[in-house]
Amino acid sequence: MDVFKFGGASVNSAEGVRNFCKIAQSYRSESLIVVSAMGKTTNALEQIVDNFFHKKTDLVQQQFVDIKTYHFGIINELFSKNDSASVDKINRLFDNLNVYLEKSASLNYEFEYDQIVAYGELISTTILSEYLRNKGVKNQWVDIRRYLKTNDTFGEAKVDWELSRQLLPTAFTFQDTFIYITQGFIGGTSSNLTTTLGREGSDYTAAILANVLDAQEVSILKDVPGVMNADPKWLPDAKQLKRISYQEAIELAFFGAKVIHPKTIQPIREKNIPMFVRSFINFHEQGTMVSTAAIEKSVKTPIFIQKKDQRLISIRPKDYSFIIEENLGPIFSMIAKHRLKVNLTQNSAISFSLCVDNSKNIDQLIEALKEDYEVRYNENLELITIRHYDDESINQMTEGRSILLEQKSRDTAQYVLECKV
Ligand code: ASP
Ligand code: MG
Repeated sequence: MDVFKFGGASVNSAEGVRNFCKIAQSYRSESLIVVSAMGKTTNALEQIVDNFFHKKTDLVQQQFVDIKTYHFGIINELFSKNDSASVDKINRLFDNLNVYLEKSASLNYEFEYDQIVAYGELISTTILSEYLRNKGVKNQWVDIRRYLKTNDTFGEAKVDWELSRQLLPTAFTFQDTFIYITQGFIGGTSSNLTTTLGREGSDYTAAILANVLDAQEVSILKDVPGVMNADPKWLPDAKQLKRISYQEAIELAFFGAKVIHPKTIQPIREKNIPMFVRSFINFHEQGTMVSTAAIEKSVKTPIFIQKKDQRLISIRPKDYSFIIEENLGPIFSMIAKHRLKVNLTQNSAISFSLCVDNSKNIDQLIEALKEDYEVRYNENLELITIRHYDDESINQMTEGRSILLEQKSRDTAQYVLECKV
């Protein structure tokens, strides 16, 4: 059995859905297809959550209509009058969501978030499953919330592996069908409340299902031909990497390469399942294979990762005491408390620097730190990471630019740079 994951961009239009159908049809062995919400639906639903929680009823209604209109633009192109049973099914989901939005919100933002945002995946998978069926491609739609069980940390739920290992095989038996279609990103608690696994979590769902069901391989379908040595929107002459190791993939995800979700690798590595990152347009090309095999020396091309909108914060104890364990412990617990993601740290005897993604929590952190430390910062910076660097690649990234901080290990060079004007 093979697992496939289709992201929102692959099914953001009627043409995308038709292409999806072509791929599903061309595939001859047992397949489990995991799908995200269509296009930018999750972002739109996030806005609804915010307005729902803050009782901005008019905005909620307006945005609900917008989302429904977007989906029906696609549905009207794909379904004919004869398919009214399918359209009714999809409509029922919109009705359920609407009923939910007419109630008043509980006091738990994350809970409300998960109940509402999950509709993106419920709706997309229903559309795809119904469309395939109407085209004569037999498939089974599965509500993953009944089988992929999580704790109740809404918004970022942790998988209950034990329970999921018991339940998932009962859903995907492949007895009456070759194709299953199910939702990425969402799960359910043991008392059947809807949860989500964190933004962009559909890759992770694919990896969990592959692990539990012992898949032969996983394919992540993307709008790029595979894992590239840089984001081609940033560096247009980016090259595709043919093979990378699990370890390399984890490192790339950690340093901010968006092509793979950081949590995806661990479950497939545990069972040694190869993962292919490939294009949903040129589906039959192999893409990038992620597996145990290391990158060959000859293809150790430099890989570039850019993170924008960074802040570099420098912290120095007011009493000029050394930056040692006594200071680092409290500093790190304050960072964790403010839920900040640290991308790079460096320290000297009496000062500690950290580079973090910009967010509104940083100002609060800085205020809190100022009680005991002198704090300075620069903002609007860029963090560039080069894996497998050489002189030429470093030059290419840093020439003529002002470097605020530099760090090198054997495999990785990182630079905090002022933005180009
Ligand atoms: N639809 C969800 C999101 O946009 C999950 C995913 O795309 O992986 O975050
Ligand atoms: Mg998405």
